[in-house]
Amino acid sequence: MKHNYQMIVNDIVKKSFPELKRDKILIKESKNKKFDEYFADVTYLFFIKIIRIGKKMSELSKENGEGVLAHELSHIVLFNKRNFIQKMIFGIKYYLSERLKGLEERRTDELAISKGYAKSLYKSRIIRMKDKTSKSNKYYMKPQEIKSYAKKIKKW
Ligand SMILES: [Zn+2]
Repeated sequence: MKHNYQMIVNDIVKKSFPELKRDKILIKESKNKKFDEYFADVTYLFFIKIIRIGKKMSELSKENGEGVLAHELSHIVLFNKRNFIQKMIFGIKYYLSERLKGLEERRTDELAISKGYAKSLYKSRIIRMKDKTSKSNKYYMKPQEIKSYAKKIKKW
């Protein structure tokens, strides 16, 4: 199903990410074929943050899509905490280090869960993990890990 993702993101920021309310966050629906297997990612252009939406997002309900978007917004929160030099170094390392990528994805999931998006993240992750052709699944928390972490911090 297609949704107005810009509106959904604005609502999530207002409700759950007050630390991002001054950020310029845009949504771009990516037509790039290479991007077909993804739900979404974030890219940074000077001070603008662009959440790119992949074709796969249309497989998700609005509620489950919120989990994915809360994950992307959590990436921006972590990004904002780094200074310029740290951002540069991190940006390079993220693509080179499998371990760092895995760590960052986990931290991002944990933040989205702490913001109250455990169930929608869990459901979208189940759908994501069904795609066996995806090479990036190993970086993310498994649905079961999302559930047990959320229960541990009383956010399930
Ligand atoms: Zn991510």
